[in-house]
Amino acid sequence: ERADITYFGAGPALLPTDVLENAAAALVNFNGTGLGLAEHSHRSELASNIVNEAKKDLATYLDVPDDYEILFMQGGGSGEFSATVYNLVAVWVERRKQRILKELGVEDSKQLPENVFKELQKAVDEELKIDYLVTGSWSLKASQEAARLVGAEHVNVAADAREINGGKFGKIPEESTWKLSKNPALVYYCDNETVDGVEFPGFPETLGPKGDDGPIVVADMSSNILSRRVPVKNFSVIFFGAQKNLGSTGVTVVIIKKSLLPPAVKDADPSLLRKLGIPNGPVVLQYSTIAKNNSLYNTLSIFDVYIAGQVLKKALKTFPNKVDGQQAQSEQKAKLIYAALDAHPESYKVVPDKSVRSRMNICFRVTHLESGIDDSEKAFLKGSVEAGLTGLKGHRSVGGIRASNYNSISLEGAEKLAKYIEEFAAKPK
Ligand code: PMP
Repeated sequence: ERADITYFGAGPALLPTDVLENAAAALVNFNGTGLGLAEHSHRSELASNIVNEAKKDLATYLDVPDDYEILFMQGGGSGEFSATVYNLVAVWVERRKQRILKELGVEDSKQLPENVFKELQKAVDEELKIDYLVTGSWSLKASQEAARLVGAEHVNVAADAREINGGKFGKIPEESTWKLSKNPALVYYCDNETVDGVEFPGFPETLGPKGDDGPIVVADMSSNILSRRVPVKNFSVIFFGAQKNLGSTGVTVVIIKKSLLPPAVKDADPSLLRKLGIPNGPVVLQYSTIAKNNSLYNTLSIFDVYIAGQVLKKALKTFPNKVDGQQAQSEQKAKLIYAALDAHPESYKVVPDKSVRSRMNICFRVTHLESGIDDSEKAFLKGSVEAGLTGLKGHRSVGGIRASNYNSISLEGAEKLAKYIEEFAAKPK
């Protein structure tokens, strides 16, 4: 029975049962139209209403300022590893071109004079950098994708957490040690590392805010969005896959500062990018195209947007003070679970450093049995399933246990897990 289990999987994650029940009905017959939501045209009025409503509710819940656009995209978080590079490198090139034109006193035109082109090529070769803070396996993957697309010579790993933690993730290097580039196309970080259980305690002060002259800051918030207040104005782009705190797999959300979109910045000329040797991404990953078409450039899964919208409506109803209410609950749940682990140091070891423990993905090792970690973790997992606590196995790349404490885990669910952690530690060794 669904009601008998609490699922701690890392994503796709548990969704509220009432949302799923409404969605199930909408999948067969939406609002008495006789047609289900996966069948209605994405060009219909009801589709754009669903998109607009979800955008509005997301903006309300997170207090997204008016000078930001919200996009629903496809391709998942991994698609955004590429999209952020394609889009923001193109912005960098366009802005750099404008500066050169100004310096040389030349009018902009499609056919760039040779001297302008040469200057621009030189700037690309010598100055184009994309900065990454590598604090776990997802930011590492994003940096690798950037290197694959534009070449490793343009990727600057400004910090690598493994260097200060014996080759493993689990800490965030001090901001004073970050080696940021002078005018990078973007500075990228992952706010919550889902695999490694590492979360930034807050917005890194080094990165701003400095308005439009400050660094272009991009954050992957796939696994902690909607769980705490985000100072949106400090970011250029925030992206997240829906499948953890927002909804079902199939939509990816991008919150982007309008000053990075036309008309503020022109789309770079594709033939110029080609000539400069800069990859120009697929049009479905182009933020300006998606923005211009209100996220309906091509066929979007309206059903998935609907689910996300229903989750937002429920959150707005549950928490009158919006994300702050959810934040308090998330902290309370995480505290309960970590406290149970910390109370039994002989049986458990939390993986990341205390200062960067994720409230969302609680990663730990079980050392309870004298016969070793393997036996301990097997026994822990077996007992957890019997207690109705599922999805606790750690990511295959790191092993151990991972309890994903997303928004859909109720306080009672977290209490049950904490209780099980206590009970397991009391078992004979
Ligand atoms: N970023 C983070 C932080 C993630 O947790 C994940 C997936 N678990 C991704 C990116 C990749 O997302 P997707 O599977 O949607 O490509």
